[in-house]
Amino acid sequence: MKHIFVTGGVVSSLGKGLTAASIGTLLENRGLKVALQKFDPYLNVDPGTMSPFQHGEVYVLDDGAETDLDLGHYERFTDSKLTRFNNLTSGQVYQRVLDKERRGDYLGKTVQVIPHVTDEIQNRIREIGDRTGVDVVITEIGGTIGDIEGLPFVEAIREFALSAGRGNVLFLHVTFVPFIKAAGELKTKPTQQSVAKLREIGITPDILVCRCEKPLTKEHRQKLSLFCNVPYEAVIEEIDVEHSIYEVPLMLQREGMDKLICEQLGLDTPPADMAHWQDIIRKLIKPRHRVRIGVVGKYVELQDAYKSVYESVIHGGVANDCGVEIARIDAEDIEENGAANALQGCSGILVPGGFGERGIEGKIQAARYARENNIPYLGLCLGMQIATIEFARNVLQLEGAHSAEFDPGTDHPVIALLDEQLNVTDKGGTMRLGSQPCSLKPDSLAARLYRSGEIHERHRHRYEFNNAYREQFEAAGIVFSGTSPDGNLIEIVEVPGHPFFIASQFHPEFKSKPNKPHPLFSGFIEAAHACDHAETV
Ligand code: GLN
Repeated sequence: MKHIFVTGGVVSSLGKGLTAASIGTLLENRGLKVALQKFDPYLNVDPGTMSPFQHGEVYVLDDGAETDLDLGHYERFTDSKLTRFNNLTSGQVYQRVLDKERRGDYLGKTVQVIPHVTDEIQNRIREIGDRTGVDVVITEIGGTIGDIEGLPFVEAIREFALSAGRGNVLFLHVTFVPFIKAAGELKTKPTQQSVAKLREIGITPDILVCRCEKPLTKEHRQKLSLFCNVPYEAVIEEIDVEHSIYEVPLMLQREGMDKLICEQLGLDTPPADMAHWQDIIRKLIKPRHRVRIGVVGKYVELQDAYKSVYESVIHGGVANDCGVEIARIDAEDIEENGAANALQGCSGILVPGGFGERGIEGKIQAARYARENNIPYLGLCLGMQIATIEFARNVLQLEGAHSAEFDPGTDHPVIALLDEQLNVTDKGGTMRLGSQPCSLKPDSLAARLYRSGEIHERHRHRYEFNNAYREQFEAAGIVFSGTSPDGNLIEIVEVPGHPFFIASQFHPEFKSKPNKPHPLFSGFIEAAHACDHAETV
């Protein structure tokens, strides 16, 4: 088994996750089986308890693990099957070490970072290999080289390489080569220093991936090679992509990345066939149609808070040869200026998941505006609860109808706490999480889109539709087109007679890929395009 370790230098947000995922794409298209995992140096056991302001989106896996959003890139770019074992945090490592210490497993020894913490990390590297049986394991180390909290992970991969043997391990360092405007030049010094820092710990990178906004010249490459002790051909340029993140694998292929990796690790494979990927890029760069979708949320200024939602909308565009312009609309802006103003020019409205009361009334106004003006609506998790509250208030005339999450004393709790949550007090990992089966009503919009009677989708919620109101909603025309197989939990809500109004209690955005767009998103973009505002280019 071969191992690639991806570290980052100079600054964070370099797109290490995208680079790791893109390498995964290239290696898979060479016929290799890959597994991807992420090590995060923070002390939270998982990112499930972190605010989107701190961490961006929490990505949910089939097994219910709440993980780092880079795992979303891994799933979108590869066929690697991910479980809770693919995301390790310092919190988990220390939790395990301390559990062992309390049990007496260390037999009276002093428990130390080296070797006990680093051993625990190395165990996880081996474990993922054993569990998956792949050809190549790609491990991304979160954070930046030089961070104190990341040190045990870097030390652990150094030790791991020692025991695995040099030809089986490859160190890839993703770094930043800034363009200094005043000088009109790219600067290599920060990369030199970051590599020096890495070498201080005992790791010499085999490949240097240089993130830059201008192309590297031959001189830059020579200088980086010389000062960083990396062969000339192993200095890889990863320039900012023009149109789409899905261009990254093709760009790295042009730079010879996968060939180099296979040579260095002694992997004998044919070149990667990326024809289907090129077709996706064509549709992204030169789509036949265009459409504008309004995403109404409260973290709209953050790049990463609705990552999978934005990506899935774009995949829905690929399915329809339709370029999607995403208008990020602040729900509080709707509260101030009205839905008609804020949502002007949108051919589809999407309300994603969320927690907390801020912006809720704006989201309810957005759902109403979509329903009353025949604009396609897709609600995800909270977006489904919002659609339900809106219908209760404005169609069923249930005054003050609300979710018990936001108004515990409401006369009409159309959304109420799940029974299983009644005695839950801990916050971490205690929601209804992960893949659950859902039965679809024959002939409903959902059944038509999925072309199936039973589906599995990922969940992350504590509240649900209150069955006490079921008959009232159905009498007014609402179709509950998806339920748990026992019929108890409402999973999908539809408003018939509307061009496209569908909302799910689950998160379909965690299962969409550029080469396998999710049916709810494909249907949504198709409907939005059909509903005009769209121009053919
Ligand atoms: N806050 C809602 C709940 O817990 C919705 C959750 C979500 O959108 N992920 O049920």
